[in-house]
Amino acid sequence: MRPALLDHVGRLSDEDLPAYVYDLPALHEHVHAIRAALPARVELLYAAKANSDPRIVQALAAHVDGFEVASGGELNHVRGLVPETPLAFGGPGKTQTELVQALEAGVERLHIESEHELRLLTTLLGDRSADVLLRVNLPVAMGHVALAMGGRPSPFGMDPAQLDDCLELIASDPRIRLHGLHLHLASGLRAQAQLALIDEMLTWAEAWAHERAVDLAEVNVGGGMGVDYTHPHKVFDWSVFGAGLLRILTRHPRLTLRIEPGRSVTAYCGWYVTQVLDIKFSRGEAFAVLRGGTHHLRTPAAKQHDQPFEVIPDDVWLRPWDRPEARNEPVTLVGQLCTPKDVLARRVTVERLRVGDRVAFAMAGAYAWNISHHAFLMHPHPTFHHVHDAEVSVPGTYAHRMS
Ligand SMILES: *Cc1c(COP(=O)(O)O)cnc(C)c1O
Repeated sequence: MRPALLDHVGRLSDEDLPAYVYDLPALHEHVHAIRAALPARVELLYAAKANSDPRIVQALAAHVDGFEVASGGELNHVRGLVPETPLAFGGPGKTQTELVQALEAGVERLHIESEHELRLLTTLLGDRSADVLLRVNLPVAMGHVALAMGGRPSPFGMDPAQLDDCLELIASDPRIRLHGLHLHLASGLRAQAQLALIDEMLTWAEAWAHERAVDLAEVNVGGGMGVDYTHPHKVFDWSVFGAGLLRILTRHPRLTLRIEPGRSVTAYCGWYVTQVLDIKFSRGEAFAVLRGGTHHLRTPAAKQHDQPFEVIPDDVWLRPWDRPEARNEPVTLVGQLCTPKDVLARRVTVERLRVGDRVAFAMAGAYAWNISHHAFLMHPHPTFHHVHDAEVSVPGTYAHRMS
């Protein structure tokens, strides 16, 4: 944790914990570097579902070409925060209400998931028009990835053969403008693997467009740039990725490429900071029970990993008994939930961990608070803090408890 954040955490009271601390300067720097690494012909959208915290969305708006939203709720939320920024509306199972909402909001792109969805859209258009990408599930071999969303039977997108009926519908309805294809297939890829997949997808897309005489202006290849929770410093190599895209795009001179990463954009800017409530030894094995748990930070439970963390020692101990501690030994860090699944990190060796010490879990900026089951056991929600470097010496003013 960098000094400005430590300074902020040091001024939080125990009652402020658990706390989500978002490092906005680090986020700005990270997204700026991502944008700088990408060729001009690549448009960068942020997938709001990774973390739609208002100040994160506002911070990102300065750097991205748009936001990908995947529900009417996200659509309203993001549009309200950054009304000038273009939106792409994707995701399976769009309701009639959501489609109307998207049309009324004038979203820049609709990502169409099925022929039925396209037909539904035509009944709702009236005298409006819609700019669409057709989402296709390509038959590509992906090897091992964290979350495969295509290349095998899947509820996302259409089989290539199902595109033809959509093309027919579009040809007969001038209100629908087809810009190209959407191809988000997997999450968790490293730069080289992602490039190989994109290369294969674009080759397929151009051949398909040529055969069908479709004017292919745009391909959105989705997100899924890898985040390595076991090796936090192995960040997705955006320079290699950008250079690779530049090479690939020379073979597709007329194409605009879009990407819509989520996790790899915001994972690193968030910290979940909490405190050790108890240290116990069960049959010789150390357990640290923390304030909060996976109902606030579900990421390690959802992905079955150890969430990386730092110990922030607190030397104050006023009780008349010995301070419970674990020393140079593996400790399992659990939360307050009455379930054995409430594990944030398992058997991680710590130099020293004592009751009252604080623990800051890193990489908690994406798919963390917003995917967690907050209501379970009715513990208080965390407090939320957005650190701007200029502000860190003003305690308390920007803390609020979400309810
Ligand atoms: C979830 C999702 C993304 C973002 O994926 P990340 O792994 O967070 O980068 C992008 N596009 C679509 C269609 C998605 O479903």
